[in-house]
Amino acid sequence: MVGERVRFPSRPRFAPNAAHSRAGQEIRHVRRSGEDIPNGEKEKTVLRIAVPNKGRLADRTLVLFEKAGLKAESRVDRALVAELGAEFQAIFVRAQDIPEFVKDGAADLGVTGADLVAESGQSVDELLDLDFGRCRLVVAVREDVPVSAPTELEAGTRVATSFPGITKSFFDEVGVEIQVAPVTGAAEIAPHLGVADVIVDLVSTGSTLKVNGLREIGTIMSSTARLIANHGVLGQPEKGRRIRELVTALESVIRARSKRYLMANVPRDRLTEVKQVIPGLSGPTIVEIQNGNGWVAAHAVVDDHQIYQTIIRLKELGAEGILVTPIERLMP
Ligand code: AMP
Repeated sequence: MVGERVRFPSRPRFAPNAAHSRAGQEIRHVRRSGEDIPNGEKEKTVLRIAVPNKGRLADRTLVLFEKAGLKAESRVDRALVAELGAEFQAIFVRAQDIPEFVKDGAADLGVTGADLVAESGQSVDELLDLDFGRCRLVVAVREDVPVSAPTELEAGTRVATSFPGITKSFFDEVGVEIQVAPVTGAAEIAPHLGVADVIVDLVSTGSTLKVNGLREIGTIMSSTARLIANHGVLGQPEKGRRIRELVTALESVIRARSKRYLMANVPRDRLTEVKQVIPGLSGPTIVEIQNGNGWVAAHAVVDDHQIYQTIIRLKELGAEGILVTPIERLMP
């Protein structure tokens, strides 16, 4: 792999219930006061989840866990660890260091971008696409450079990037011998400083490239935030079971994000048409209305991008009292 990689100082082996922060202190799960260990029952191991401590993925990760019922509670401000419910503990580290923490077993699980997992080259299990932090790793050139694809670049082209590993493998695969110029951020400036002719960088809307006078000529990979696990931890009976429960909870939140719960009072004699407009997960729920005369209530889960049209069609069928609410979790 070309370019400089982030390397950890060598660390001691980890005790089963302890992690080490970058500063080297040991972080232990401390049983909460009032929590009793029943006679003969072994103390439950807390599973550690490495979570980005700052940047684009940090806040959304904690919001996702909170919606799944795991609110991060730290004892002090800016803590390196926080309890996530009774069974998990968040350790806050840099997003790019998370694959290595998980690979080493310093954390059982981690949340980080697929781009960073790929760049790290670490072998970890990918458990879930968390469906946020969507971006692409692209190849871009100065607008005035007459090249329209990475394969058209000349041998020896200098490419500035903070993803030297992925960049080198990509250009090896397409058969162009490039020179990687590793940077730690703001690769966009490199072509203007004469440091490199080309950059490989993350984009979501592409507007930063445009503002900096750059043009995309190819996509290397698409990325979103992922839940990753230490290799083999899923196979452990107790930890594996708890991780599967966590995945189910997170999936239910992710699934619910794009759905709304719709309720409407509809004339009973239009029910056949109403069922076509709101098919729901397995047909709408029809509820009797007390003293409803010819009316019933219809409830259904609807894709949020269909809400606008669905309401128009329900109104055409004479629906009244239409109510749309967000859904916190959805388990089919
Ligand atoms: P950050 O810590 O803000 O530098 O970004 C960490 C991760 O956020 C990246 O490695 C990507 O996985 C993700 N990300 C999502 N959107 C973008 C974007 N537009 N630019 C850079 N990173 C992004």
